[in-house]
Amino acid sequence: MKIYIITDMEGISGICNEAQVKREMPQYVEGQRLLSGDVNAAIAGAFEGGATEVLVSDAHGSGFNFILEQMDPHATYERPNGGLDFMPGLDDSFDGLFCIGYHAMAGTLNGFLDHTQSSASWFNYWVNGRRTGELGQCGLWAGSYGVPMLLVTGDRAACDEAHDFFGEIETVSVKQGIGRQYARCTHPEATRISIREAARRSLSLIGKARPYRVQEPLTLRLEFYRSDMADSVALRPGTRRINARTVERVVDNPRLLLSI
Ligand SMILES: [Zn+2]
Repeated sequence: MKIYIITDMEGISGICNEAQVKREMPQYVEGQRLLSGDVNAAIAGAFEGGATEVLVSDAHGSGFNFILEQMDPHATYERPNGGLDFMPGLDDSFDGLFCIGYHAMAGTLNGFLDHTQSSASWFNYWVNGRRTGELGQCGLWAGSYGVPMLLVTGDRAACDEAHDFFGEIETVSVKQGIGRQYARCTHPEATRISIREAARRSLSLIGKARPYRVQEPLTLRLEFYRSDMADSVALRPGTRRINARTVERVVDNPRLLLSI
C-alpha cells in the first residue's frame, strides 16, 4: 500500500506563533523541528498500518522546510514543482492521502493562521459554488487520481473543515485557535502519539473512504482582497470578471484548480 503525505506548517503541533512558520524569523528553526516531529509520527503510523511506501511533499511555502537528516529514513521526500503542481509524485498507484499540519480556509472563525493559498491576496475561493480552502484543494487533486483523504492533522478548525469535506476520516486536533493569531497547544509529545495512532488506524479506511470529487468541468471563482489584484488576472483568456475583486474560470481537470 502506498501513502502520499502532503505537509504544511500552520497546523503543526506546538506552532502557536506566526514567526515559527516564516523562514526569515529566528523562531522558524523551532518550527522546522516541530514539523519533523508530526510528519515522522504520521510516517511511522502509516508503516505500522501496512503501508509499504510513503512519499512526502514538503509543501509549506515553496518547500525546503524539512531538514532531511531529521526525517524518517523509511520515507521518500519531494516538494511542489512550481506554484501549480503541489503533489508532483502523486498518481493513481497511491491508496491514500494524509494532510499533516493543516489550517482552515480563509475566513474561518478561530482558525489559527487561516488562509487559502495567499494570505496577502486571496479573500475567498470557490469550486462549483462551494467555498473551499487548501484541504478541499488537496482532496480534489488526490480525488482526480481516485485517491481518498484518510487523515488530516491541524488545529480544531482544520479538523472540523476536514469532516465537512471528507466525512468520517481520521483527524487529530493538535491545538485550538484563539482568534487568528493565537493558539492553545496540546504538548507535541502527546499529539505525536495521537498522530501515529490515527495514521495507523486510517489505513483501515482504504477501500471504504471515497475519493473527493466534484462535477467536471470545475468552475473556479476567486475573490481578491483588492480590485487591482483582479485587474491583470481578469485579462487572461478564458477568465470572466464577476465584479471588481472577483474572477471566474472554468477548467476541465481538478489538477488545474490553482490556475486562476
Ligand atoms: Zn503553510
